[in-house]
Amino acid sequence: MRLILMGPPGAGKGTQAQFVADRFGVPAISTGDIFRANVSQGTALGLAAQRYMDSGEYVPDEITNKMVRIRIDEADAESGFLLDGYPRTLAQVDELDDMVASSGHRLDAVVVLTVDPEEIVARLLQRAQVEGRPDDTEDVIRRRQEVYAEQTEPLIEVYRTRGILIEVDGMGEVDDVTSRIFAALDVVQQS
Ligand code: AMP
Repeated sequence: MRLILMGPPGAGKGTQAQFVADRFGVPAISTGDIFRANVSQGTALGLAAQRYMDSGEYVPDEITNKMVRIRIDEADAESGFLLDGYPRTLAQVDELDDMVASSGHRLDAVVVLTVDPEEIVARLLQRAQVEGRPDDTEDVIRRRQEVYAEQTEPLIEVYRTRGILIEVDGMGEVDDVTSRIFAALDVVQQS
């Protein structure tokens, strides 16, 4: 399975990505996690990405695309993957299409978690207290929502047109959301 998990910041993508990846036996590839690991290790990639992340902006496509290309080429992603937080721009959609096509495969499904924006901001403020992420201040949280609406929401229509979009209600208990995602993806897997 080659899957994408989308949704606004705070929709619970990271949590669900791990469950979905385990169920389908593929690696969960989170661009946010890879960037954060590079920032904490002080690599050149981390240094290049940090100022964008800290202000809630997207890291430039050329940096992000190169990083994903390298990650997807690793052995564990050969039989499939779940992308969490990529693609986020139309240029990244094109780049991913190229990566998938050049390996002779296709994307199976794009799952979008739909959530109430008010609840999202509340969740993110709570996470800020628990995890202390530098990009979880209120101003940055609001900026990240804006950037998502401007740059990433248009991707939903792109994938809907292709017939691979699955919208899942992301509200409520974590387990219930997981069950909804599994039910939708089981259908895809069997088809
Ligand atoms: P996340 O943990 O997915 O919310 O990502 C945290 C931050 O990493 C984002 O706010 C961006 O600054 C950066 N980032 C993650 N994925 C991407 C992407 N696909 N394109 C550009 N920037 C990204």
